[in-house]
Amino acid sequence: MLAVNGGKPVRGSFLSYGQQWIDEKDIESVVNTLKSPLLTQGPMVHAFEQRVADYVGTKYAVAFSNGTAALHAAYFAAGLTAGDEMITSPITFVATSNAALYLQAKPIFADIDAATYNLDPNKAELLITDKTKLLVPVDFTGQPADMDAFRRLADKYNLTLISDGAHSLGASYNGQPVGRQADMTMFSFHPVKPVTTGEGGVIVTDNEEYYEKLQLFRSHGIVKSSADIDGPWYYEMVELGMNYRLPDIQAALGYSQMEKLDLFIQRRREIAAKYTAAFSDVDGVLLPEQLNSAASGWHIYVLRFPVEKFTVGRKQIFTALRAENIGVHVHYIPVYIQPYYERLGYRRGLCPLAEKWYEEAMTLPIFPKMTDQDAEDVIRAVKKVVAAYLK
Ligand SMILES: *Cc1c(COP(=O)(O)O)cnc(C)c1O
Repeated sequence: MLAVNGGKPVRGSFLSYGQQWIDEKDIESVVNTLKSPLLTQGPMVHAFEQRVADYVGTKYAVAFSNGTAALHAAYFAAGLTAGDEMITSPITFVATSNAALYLQAKPIFADIDAATYNLDPNKAELLITDKTKLLVPVDFTGQPADMDAFRRLADKYNLTLISDGAHSLGASYNGQPVGRQADMTMFSFHPVKPVTTGEGGVIVTDNEEYYEKLQLFRSHGIVKSSADIDGPWYYEMVELGMNYRLPDIQAALGYSQMEKLDLFIQRRREIAAKYTAAFSDVDGVLLPEQLNSAASGWHIYVLRFPVEKFTVGRKQIFTALRAENIGVHVHYIPVYIQPYYERLGYRRGLCPLAEKWYEEAMTLPIFPKMTDQDAEDVIRAVKKVVAAYLK
C-alpha cells in the first residue's frame, strides 16, 4: 500500500534531493583562514579562482559572493544596459533573467528543446532583434546546452554568449570541460551545486577586457589609480559597481572542495546510470535524453510523468513520493509565469513546451554522498508509485 494511503514508507528517514559533502580537509582549510590575518581580500580568493580557471582551462576566473551576483557582473561586463534584450530559457532559476532586470534590460524567453529541456537554439534565433545583446543558454540538470549552435548564432548576429553553468561545473562538451565554450560562463557554489563555498559564484573567461570589468564591478567600480593625484591614498570610482566580493573564509572552502569535484561528478554519474538502467523498463515515465556531445554532471535527475499516462497529476505523484520519504522536488516553474514577471507583462502561453514540461517534471534525489541503498530506495519508491497510478 502507498504510504500516502497509510502503508509503510519505502524508507524510514527523509532523503533530500541534494546536499553538500564537507570533509575534515575542508574544515581545516576554513579554520586556517579563520586564524590568518585576512578574512576577506586575502590570498585564498585568488588561489580559489586560479584553481577553477586551471580546472576549466580558461585564462581567468573571478569569484563573487554568489552565482546571481556573478551573472549580474557578467551581463554588466558584456555591456547589457537599459532597453537591451537578452535571450534565455524559461526553465531555469529566476536569477538568470533577474540579473538582466537589475540592469533595466529585458529578458526574452525562448522555448526549450523537447528532448533535452535545454534552450532550443532555433527558437532563440527567431527572437533575435536589433536590441538583442546576449544569448544566455542554461546547462539545465548539468547537461551542457547545444553550444556549437549558440556559438554560430552569437557569431552570426554579433552577440555575447554567456552560459549559465550553475549546474554544470565538472561536466564536459565535445570532450572539453564546460566553461570554455561561451564568452563567459557562470558557476554557482551554493550547497546543492557541484561543489560549494556556502554561497558563491565564479565567472570564467579568456577575455581580458571582461576580466577587468568583472573585477571592477565586484568592488564598487573602484580602481586604484597609479596617478598620485591627491596623495598615495588616491583611488577612483569609475563605474557604478557593487560589493559582490567572496570572503577568504568561503574561498578556502571552495579551494578545498575543488579537489573533490571529479570524485563528486563520478559518483553523480554512477547514481544517474543506476536510475537510467532501472527506469528504462518502467512504463509511462520519460527519461532525460542525453546528447552525444554532452557528458552531464548530473546536478539533478529529472523524470517526466506525462499527464496522459497517469490516472493522477504530477502533484499527487509528488505527494505520494514524499510520503515514501523520497525528497523529490520540481525544477523549475517557467520563470515568466512568476507573479513579478506577470506584472511586467509576460503571459502564459509564451513557451508551450516549457509549460507542458512543467506539468510533468519531477527531480529525484541525486548527490555524491548518497549510498547505493539510498538510490535503491528511490528506485523502489518510484516503481511503487508508478504501479499505483499508471493508466
Ligand atoms: C543556483 C542557480 C543560480 C544562482 O546561483 P546562486 O549561487 O544561488 O546565486 C542561477 N542559475 C541557475 C540555473 C541556478 O541553478
